[in-house]
Amino acid sequence: MTTTTPPRTAPDAELAARLKELACAEIDRQAERIVAVSDDIMRHPETGYRETRTADVVAEQFRAMGLEPATGLARTGVKARMHGRTSGPTAAVLGELDGLLIPGHPHGDPETDAAHACGHNAQIASMIGAGLGLQAVMDQLDGDVVLFAVPAEECVEVQWRLDLVDTGEIHHTAGKAELIRRGEFEDVDMALLTHAAASSPALGVGGDGNGSLVKRVRFTGKSAHAGSTPWMGVSSYKAATVAISAIDAHREFFKDEDNVRVHHLITRSGDSVSAIPARTEMEMLIRARSIEAMRDASERVDRALRAGALAMGADVEITTAVAFLPFSSDAPLAELAYANGCELVGEDECKSVSGNFGGSTDMGDLGHVMPVVQPFSACGTDGAPHGPEYFTSDHHAAAVLPAKMMAMTVVDLLVDGAAQAHRVIEESGPKLDREAFVALHDSLSGTRRHAAPTGKD
Ligand SMILES: [Zn+2]
Ligand SMILES: [Zn+2]
Repeated sequence: MTTTTPPRTAPDAELAARLKELACAEIDRQAERIVAVSDDIMRHPETGYRETRTADVVAEQFRAMGLEPATGLARTGVKARMHGRTSGPTAAVLGELDGLLIPGHPHGDPETDAAHACGHNAQIASMIGAGLGLQAVMDQLDGDVVLFAVPAEECVEVQWRLDLVDTGEIHHTAGKAELIRRGEFEDVDMALLTHAAASSPALGVGGDGNGSLVKRVRFTGKSAHAGSTPWMGVSSYKAATVAISAIDAHREFFKDEDNVRVHHLITRSGDSVSAIPARTEMEMLIRARSIEAMRDASERVDRALRAGALAMGADVEITTAVAFLPFSSDAPLAELAYANGCELVGEDECKSVSGNFGGSTDMGDLGHVMPVVQPFSACGTDGAPHGPEYFTSDHHAAAVLPAKMMAMTVVDLLVDGAAQAHRVIEESGPKLDREAFVALHDSLSGTRRHAAPTGKD
């Protein structure tokens, strides 16, 4: 953590330019290796908290760089530290380890359906690439760099993750929140991560993302012969469909500016079609732009779920957990990243983005405890992200170029007494400490059980 006194002078621009040149030249020299990592991980996708092979690839790369990685952090995270010439603020460059579940993806795993349809393979490669570039200049920087491969960003296999929460294996469904709780970001002052986007522009910086909640919903009814004695049963499936109708009735009452999205899957319903289904399970994702809107939408959905159960006389158990807190890049960090992007590709190909991009990320969680920036880069294809046509077809655009932008930004932060890093910390405003962060999550999470009415009142 920060140990030096902020210098009063502006950073030495000439020195910064020279170090950026050195770092970028090293990244160019290592381009083939960076591309190979991105391509290899793309072809061996794994989902969150199960990214063991991917973590091994990262650890191997770190060791080849002469670093000593810590492994198994929040199950699969891998982290290594590079020391500057003096102690000072620590800037982290992140990459996410996980893929999605997309059946039929051209580079997916046919056994598990895991696929890199969000480009996280390129993030890992750009994180390693930035590290390779920065290694060439660490002896002239006044602070440390942490390279961190983090697990479980995508919101998939929610029920399995909530089962892990039930058994105490994890406390948070998303990787960065879990790492924050475990103290793995206590030795970091700010974080950068570049996410792949569409085929153009080459680079972009800015925009904000929704927060989101997940729910595991279990309706319990009563099984009975579906043909001869259906009246003796209680359909958990019908309870779910009534609940879904009630949720749909709410959609026009969400405020436009809250950007609320409510999605659900029925992940299980009954055990045989000849019987009234006694057990129906749903998985839900609720997105909204602010924590207040997340709370409001969650309460509306819970009422709708209870209405479905009440209508049919079923029980319902609702488990809610924060998937992600709302995201926005910190302006002082974003300005540095944007200037470096423009230097690399020109203003026409480096966009300053504003507005909400609709999606969610656990960079939002990290942004509640430290300054963060998440620029984006081109990936080479124009398929819909999270779809079967989305993958990295241009690894240079998705991994090598962002490696340079992040390395250049870290140079800006840590050069010449780390003046810019100190400014970023000061200007980004107050953040939550670890305890307050976990308390915020917990205030939005929990399990509630609602029994079927007895009919006596
Ligand atoms: Zn994604
Ligand atoms: Zn992603």
